[in-house]
Amino acid sequence: MSAMPSREIRLRSRPEGMPAPGNFELGESQVAEPGPGQMRIRNIWMTVDPYMRGRMVDRRSYVPPFQIGQPLDGGAVGEVVDSRVEGFAPGDYVVGPSGGWREVHLTDGRGFRKVDPAIAPLQTFLGTLGMPGLTAYVGLTRIGEAKAGETVFVTAASGAVGTVACQIARNRGCRVVGSAGSDEKTAWLLEEARIDAAINYRKTGDLQAAMAQACPKGIDVYFENVGGAHLRAALNLANPFGRLVMCGMIEQYNEAVPPPGPDNLILVIGKSLRMQGFIVSNHGDMAEDFLREMAGWIAEGRMTWQETVVEGLERAPEAFLGLFTGANTGKMLVRVGPDRS
Ligand code: NDP
Repeated sequence: MSAMPSREIRLRSRPEGMPAPGNFELGESQVAEPGPGQMRIRNIWMTVDPYMRGRMVDRRSYVPPFQIGQPLDGGAVGEVVDSRVEGFAPGDYVVGPSGGWREVHLTDGRGFRKVDPAIAPLQTFLGTLGMPGLTAYVGLTRIGEAKAGETVFVTAASGAVGTVACQIARNRGCRVVGSAGSDEKTAWLLEEARIDAAINYRKTGDLQAAMAQACPKGIDVYFENVGGAHLRAALNLANPFGRLVMCGMIEQYNEAVPPPGPDNLILVIGKSLRMQGFIVSNHGDMAEDFLREMAGWIAEGRMTWQETVVEGLERAPEAFLGLFTGANTGKMLVRVGPDRS
């Protein structure tokens, strides 16, 4: 087989503040046949994730920044077209942390694993059974040490990480309260994810009062995806020896000047709180336990999820921008090519 044409989304310019469609451009390149130790993958699904906003800034971080004029990158699920990597053969379905934002890519296979569409639809390996699901698992169990009977509060509760965090906490016997940005989202959390209480933070005038009412025994584990007013209220409502799981702060990702931290941070001392950040890629050792427990919960009907699907690679920027306006319920995904699984 010869070179394959592949459309790709490139970073046209670095966004300032909220990104705009003009920061992206559609291009095309030719993807050569794999050399020794390489395989070529046709993407079926790609993910857009909030952390990609950080990679649009030219600064040192735990992942390298995207380069202007170059394709963006991220997780994707696809089908192996041809392979010179041991263990991977044409027709295999694979998920990996790179190669997204384009139709076809070459990889040495590092970080890639085969996925079985008989276990779950392919795109699930980018969401509930993928990086966001593992993030929820690590955050809630290893970092938050949530125990039965405790109150767990989750922000961005109806998103990819949030929905899994809510249900793991529920399955572990916690009282679970989630916050999300619409009545449809809070209804889903109550009816489908079966959590104990849900707050539409866009509608509550007094967020702290709403959180206090939903958490009459205070908060033992606060799973942070958002930051800002939620964090301030959580510090006020945290019980002694509470844990604040610092997973994300999406409210700040588009701020040119970082807002000041909460003015009540001093409470971590008197209440002996533990506030700990984490990056999921440092906790790969939990992946096996995660997949085992998730498979059990799914089989027992104790784990459900939603997806928001945007059709076509050319609309990937729109999907990405939607993360910052709450356009998604559950995992935000882009369908890049046909799924023949
Ligand atoms: P989501 O699926 O939760 O999508 C983002 C959601 O955030 C939106 O749907 C929206 O929901 C909410 N949101 C957006 N802007 C704001 C805002 N200004 N204020 C409040 N809510 C807002 O994304 P993920 O599940 O992929 O990620 C959730 C969080 O987890 C992010 O902060 C992300 O960076 C972090 N993360 C961290 C990882 C780690 O290793 N530490 C790994 C993966 C994710 P709504 O309608 O409810 O406002």
